[in-house]
Amino acid sequence: MSYPVTLIPGDGIGPEVSHAARRAIDATGVSIDWEIAELNSDLILKTGQSLPQNVLVSLDRTRVGLKGPVSTPIAGGFSSVNVALRKKLDLYANVRPVRSLPGIASRFSDVQIDMVIFRENTEDLYAGIEHEVVPDVVTGIKVITRTASIRIAEYAFNFADRVRRKRVAAIHKANIMKLADGLFLRCCREVAARHPHIEYKELIVDNAAMQLVMRPEEFDILLLPNLYGDIVSDLCAGLVGGLGIVPGANMGDTHAVFEAVHGSAPDIAGKGIANPTAMMLCGVLMLTHLKELGAANRLQGAIEAVYAAKKHTTGDVGGHSSTEEFTGAVIAAIK
Ligand code: NAD
Repeated sequence: MSYPVTLIPGDGIGPEVSHAARRAIDATGVSIDWEIAELNSDLILKTGQSLPQNVLVSLDRTRVGLKGPVSTPIAGGFSSVNVALRKKLDLYANVRPVRSLPGIASRFSDVQIDMVIFRENTEDLYAGIEHEVVPDVVTGIKVITRTASIRIAEYAFNFADRVRRKRVAAIHKANIMKLADGLFLRCCREVAARHPHIEYKELIVDNAAMQLVMRPEEFDILLLPNLYGDIVSDLCAGLVGGLGIVPGANMGDTHAVFEAVHGSAPDIAGKGIANPTAMMLCGVLMLTHLKELGAANRLQGAIEAVYAAKKHTTGDVGGHSSTEEFTGAVIAAIK
């Protein structure tokens, strides 16, 4: 049996790391029928379409995507295609496991970090509602709804139940945004009350940022609205060695699109030095989603073995290998 999967290479380092991930996934022996769908900033500028129809048609057929990053112009230009895709397919849960890998010398190598971030993926300030009221006065609207807050909280608590995780921390700024973050928090409390065996606590986002740096090993599941989830994800990536190694999954009720936390990294694009680990770990999440647990474990094990051996790692984590050398080492280590 072959699984149809939409592969979106993206732009910047996207094509390099998604090609590496595809090779590693194929090397597990699981048969994937890859359907390539181009989605990148050049194409968007040329066609004027931020979500080309072919991408949506393919994802509607396959229901599963592996996506490289796509650049978004800063302070102007077209709106984020990444945000648009998540909204269009209602991929409401952004799930990001952050774990230490063996052999990486980060500033926090002496602690074992193993947490999972659940970021609401469809609303908040990412609703993209901005107005220039009069010249030099702009408002941006933060949208928080009960529906979206309940379902991300349920997703996080149900995950905790399934994999026997013990603690959920909801992160907010409800002392200032009393209505918006207040609603998010009430929804989290309501869902927490239905899971009394899971320890639940709340942290104001600025305090959470400090606690994460001081005692990262004490965090288990983090539950956040969209913007805080985005920022805290990069902070947590920094704790375990950087953006090169943290994967993510955008989950909805009908579709799943796996993409790394990192962006298109234009500063290193085309140099053959990008770290494909995050995309390969997206492959592990994807294989798990496809219920190919043996293949998922073999790929995870191969990545960990390459890190433990410390011979073929990329520059962002202190090594000297190219994307190609690292990929070859992972493929050789798949048992
Ligand atoms: P970035 O994640 O692209 O890069 C931040 C830093 O991390 C850079 O120094 C980069 O070289 C490094 N880095 C990232 N991934 C790496 C990897 N795999 N290997 C080695 N080093 C890596 O963030 P940015 O510079 O803020 O954003 C660049 C572009 O990416 C922007 O246009 C942004 O909109 C876009 N972006 C896209 C997504 C997405 O497609 N989901 C996510 C975030 C940012």
